Amino acid sequence: MLATVDELTSLVNRRRMHEVLEAEERRQSDGLQGGTGACIALLDIDFFKQVNDQYGHAAGDAVLRSFSTTARACLRANDVLARWGGEEFLLLLPDAAPEDARTVLERMTERVHAMPVPGMQGRRISFSAGLATRRAGEPLADAIHRADKALYRAKEAGRDRIVLA
Ligand code: GH3
Ligand code: MG
Ligand code: MG
Repeated sequence: MLATVDELTSLVNRRRMHEVLEAEERRQSDGLQGGTGACIALLDIDFFKQVNDQYGHAAGDAVLRSFSTTARACLRANDVLARWGGEEFLLLLPDAAPEDARTVLERMTERVHAMPVPGMQGRRISFSAGLATRRAGEPLADAIHRADKALYRAKEAGRDRIVLA
């Protein structure tokens, strides 16, 4: 059987997230017209290479686990957070208005700043995020692409922030 869960973080893995996104697209096209749509966010931990370099790879892994637990605790029942790449995460918020998605990400930002990281006293972890609202009829892949560009702008603007696509 193919794995659906990321071993390190216990989040949904990328393979499974593709299935979740396809199901969401089907749900939107089968559903009542005028549905509220979905929001997509791409999150990337800031200066993560520094964490690995200064504290070691095991400490980096611990940050990924803490981040995942902390981030997941901010979500509502239907939201799905996946490990999309090394220290990059994809968040799907079905039927979320952009303001709701932003509120979720702001809460996540505060809790990630406050989260204790074993063996790394005094170092605060932050992440940058690009947030896209799916347009009517837009393939989710296109919304992800826009979120990725917004994430890039968040990094360029100094990191530790949420940028709307
Ligand atoms: P930025 O703020 O621009 O995002 O910088 P960054 O240092 O976070 O980004 P960069 O892409 O340069 O570094 C990501 C690092 O994440 C490099 C890679 O070695 C590390 N990484 C990827 N997967 C894992 C993992 O599973 N465990 C650990 N410990 N490190 C990982
Ligand atoms: Mg990073
Ligand atoms: Mg990255």
